[in-house]
Amino acid sequence: MSHKKTTYHVNTYNRFPVEFIKGNGAYLFDSEGNKYLDFLSGIAVTGFGHNHPLLVDAAKKQIDNLWHVSNLFESTPQEELAKKLANISSLDKVFFCNSGTEANEAAIKFARKFGNGRSTIIAANGSFHGRTMGSLSASMQEKLWEGFKPLTPGFISVPYNDPESIKNKIDNSTVAVIIEPIQGESGIIVPDEDYLQKVRNICDKNNLLLIIDEIQTGMGRTGKHFAHQYSNIVPDIITVAKGIANGIPLGAVICSEKINEAITPGNHGSTFGGNPIAISVANKIPDLLDNKLLSQIVKQGNYIKQKLTHENFSQISEIRGKGLMIGIELDKEINVKDIASELLQNKIIVGTAGNNVLRLLPPFIITNEQVDFFIETLKIVFK
Ligand code: PLP
Repeated sequence: MSHKKTTYHVNTYNRFPVEFIKGNGAYLFDSEGNKYLDFLSGIAVTGFGHNHPLLVDAAKKQIDNLWHVSNLFESTPQEELAKKLANISSLDKVFFCNSGTEANEAAIKFARKFGNGRSTIIAANGSFHGRTMGSLSASMQEKLWEGFKPLTPGFISVPYNDPESIKNKIDNSTVAVIIEPIQGESGIIVPDEDYLQKVRNICDKNNLLLIIDEIQTGMGRTGKHFAHQYSNIVPDIITVAKGIANGIPLGAVICSEKINEAITPGNHGSTFGGNPIAISVANKIPDLLDNKLLSQIVKQGNYIKQKLTHENFSQISEIRGKGLMIGIELDKEINVKDIASELLQNKIIVGTAGNNVLRLLPPFIITNEQVDFFIETLKIVFK
């Protein structure tokens, strides 16, 4: 691997010295023609793999027709997608934006507008909701805030997976609770099965909105349309991005009618939000994400976990996750970045997260053979 230094980019990323120039299904190809197995999906984005023919076709047709109009005009495709998202979430209305952090910014504004004077939002320690000032202030990790204070006021923290702690923080300024159903960036932290149900009950009893951040977990990633559906709850607001258009930037806020009633034209907006090309691709995704595919996601996730468990790797201290969102916590002696780097040299792309966790977010189309190749390569790398 040759190392190419980025000279003109602001220093926001530590990049691996590889450049991908083509993708096909679960594979990526670098500028030297090498083939890599993609177990990261652009951090939970390209769930349908690279160059999915139906999605490519949808984008190409749209490119030939119309790129951009503005949200000042009617859009049948936006309406169609909003209806599909409302259906799969059991909610009513949708606002389109371009990214995860923007979806959370909109959710925060909608909650405060609904609150009509109540403005405090409770978030969980270790949460990640984005990088812009509102969602950053809701992200309860001191390290993300360093150098960027003052934060936006009105956010308070509670321990994750501890519903009782929420009760103690509620006062007459509280309007909402924002939670990830599985904490992704913090290392694939899966809460107790009844956690979200208990949080929902607390919100109901105290007239608080429940905002569920499904940006990493949503759109099939965990084997349900949304991960909170494992807990049989309906949130007041769901935020979505990443996998919603398989790599074309799009974000969405899905909310209930009572929140919509608090919003009037001019309260919020976006020039690019719901761009026709992104919408044309996103409109295909709920149709592709049928029960058969959702079961397949669960099956392949279980296959990965079984294979990992079967190998009984001494280097692994815990395996966590749901569907195809899997965290492998490594022994303290091992540096997860080194393992990710070694896997890359062996032509497998993985992510890292939280405290020494290897993060697997393979595409939904992953096969047993590809999983077996990953396990065999991991054996080599651990040696
Ligand atoms: N919320 C969660 C749970 C995320 O995992 C992320 C991104 O990793 C975000 C929000 C921010 O999304 P974006 O990078 O699209 O702004």
